[in-house]
Amino acid sequence: MAMRSDWIWMNGEFVAWDDANVHVTTHALHYGSSVFEGIRAYATPEGPAVFRLQPHTRRLFNSAKIARMEMPYGEEEFNDALLEVVRRNNFESCYIRPLAFRGSNVLGLEGRKNPTNVCIIAWDWGKYLGNDAIDNGVDVQVSSWRRLAPDTGASMAKIGGQYVNSQFISMEAHDNGFAEGIALDINGQVSEGAGENIFVIVNGEVITPPSHASILLGVTRDSALTILKDLGYTIHYEQMSREMLYIADEIFFTGTAAEITPVRSVDRIEVGTGKPGPITKAVQEEFFAITSGRKPDKYGWLTVVRKAEPQGK
Ligand code: PMP
Repeated sequence: MAMRSDWIWMNGEFVAWDDANVHVTTHALHYGSSVFEGIRAYATPEGPAVFRLQPHTRRLFNSAKIARMEMPYGEEEFNDALLEVVRRNNFESCYIRPLAFRGSNVLGLEGRKNPTNVCIIAWDWGKYLGNDAIDNGVDVQVSSWRRLAPDTGASMAKIGGQYVNSQFISMEAHDNGFAEGIALDINGQVSEGAGENIFVIVNGEVITPPSHASILLGVTRDSALTILKDLGYTIHYEQMSREMLYIADEIFFTGTAAEITPVRSVDRIEVGTGKPGPITKAVQEEFFAITSGRKPDKYGWLTVVRKAEPQGK
């Protein structure tokens, strides 16, 4: 599927896909001074529904705050624009990529003399880690790249430049024949995938790395936590060493792109039976039932994008 749509929202107006361009002196191109989000809209019987819009928008504005980037729009105005992007492009479902970046004026490192540009892009994006990843799981490796140390980057923020680290992790994994890489933090403890949070199940106990393990606080992580708690599981927010991955009964990734993806092996060591386990499947079932509208939206996670009212009624 080509990355394409008719319209992109850019700095307050809708422009055609081919016209949403920037100048080569754009600060963000040189120094990664951008913040972004990744959000999915799912097809439901009531129309396309944006999944967890509010926490994504909050995180975008928080990323901008951490990056000391002035946002020229308020959250409400931004949300209206985002819903309009889905509506105008007539998507049933899509991946939505809001991006704010320092533009073109002066190319000093400090950067704050550049205007903030904001755009919202959407396109059709299927299963991120391959088509059978959701059903059968993925083979992953522990990366030789570490996550950023707490005083080297701001792991809670989705800042463009920081994603060179994620690219290193992903490229290394792909070169070695794996679907994804898991990075350790600066202390050698499990942190997260290149673009996914990680859940580990040992003896029926659910463990996920805590916020101080250089992770992004994922919205899908939060959703999986809510589902797991409702299913009666206690969560351990614990640091763990890599060998815990080798003896785990189940492992799964969470992420907007990856959704809930089982991990089948780590460093060529099979996870459990090598098949998605019961807890992973239970979380998947609940997650996909809610996002597809098959089950009631009991947590209020969906924002349905209504069709435009016909004019002149
Ligand atoms: N970690 C990193 C580094 C990510 O880029 C992402 C994707 N945003 C995640 C975790 C998962 O976060 P979310 O569930 O909010 O997509």
